[in-house]
Amino acid sequence: MSGRVVFVGAGPGAADLITVRGAQRLAQAHVVLYDALADPALRDIAPNARWIHVGKRGFSDSTGQETINALLVKHAKEVGLVVRLKGGDPSIFGRLEEELEALAQAGIDCEVVPGVTAAIAAAAETQRPLTRRGNGRSVAFTTAMTRTGALHASRGADTEVFYMAGKQLAALSRRLIEAGWTTDTPVSVVSRAGWPDQLHSDHNIATLPRASLLHAGRPTIVTVGAGAAPLSRVKRSVNADTCETCVETLKP
Ligand code: SAH
Repeated sequence: MSGRVVFVGAGPGAADLITVRGAQRLAQAHVVLYDALADPALRDIAPNARWIHVGKRGFSDSTGQETINALLVKHAKEVGLVVRLKGGDPSIFGRLEEELEALAQAGIDCEVVPGVTAAIAAAAETQRPLTRRGNGRSVAFTTAMTRTGALHASRGADTEVFYMAGKQLAALSRRLIEAGWTTDTPVSVVSRAGWPDQLHSDHNIATLPRASLLHAGRPTIVTVGAGAAPLSRVKRSVNADTCETCVETLKP
């Protein structure tokens, strides 16, 4: 009889942002297939499991995805419980559909345990509610990257949260203007949200390119529109628009 696979959202950073259910499944795992973004401290929850790294850095193309699918099927057939640990939430830009389909085809039982996605972590850490009464009635989780590598931006919601756009902030700024956003629209940029070395800077669409240097090489969330605006009574972090050198404060 085959084992089963549980997809667990690890959350965006610190190990204690995993859900209680996710930690329980992890503690019972025989094998854990994990991504690069997962906090190494999560290993303490399942010290006796076999941990196998299948992160994007090692497997970046479609063959890589097929290899991951094959590993999931193989280990699920061999052992009792396989946990597929994914950064943030498994359903958000996590290639979950491919892995679920591969397991369904192999007749393997699955469960998905949600996690805190990076957009939500960034909103919490910066105290910027993603919805606002009156002008923030909708939120979109968007990737600016198309399959061909071209950059695409839209104006489909009052607040648009962009994943995987950190390397192309200047291009994103241009695309947002083309999509109809005004240049003074607030933009909040957070990299490594939920980690001790998180960085946050405030911009508008015109000045967004200045965030590139500060957040270079780090997983970055770009929040545009109503949900990016600071609350008047919450102390602001460093404003990169008035800080030409972009020296950022680390979280206390
Ligand atoms: N499933 C993940 C997203 C995977 S796609 C989730 O739900 O969060 C990878 C992208 O997520 C990165 O390019 C970056 O845009 C974003 N990301 C992941 N972790 C992040 C973090 N801690 N801080 C900021 N952005 C993060």
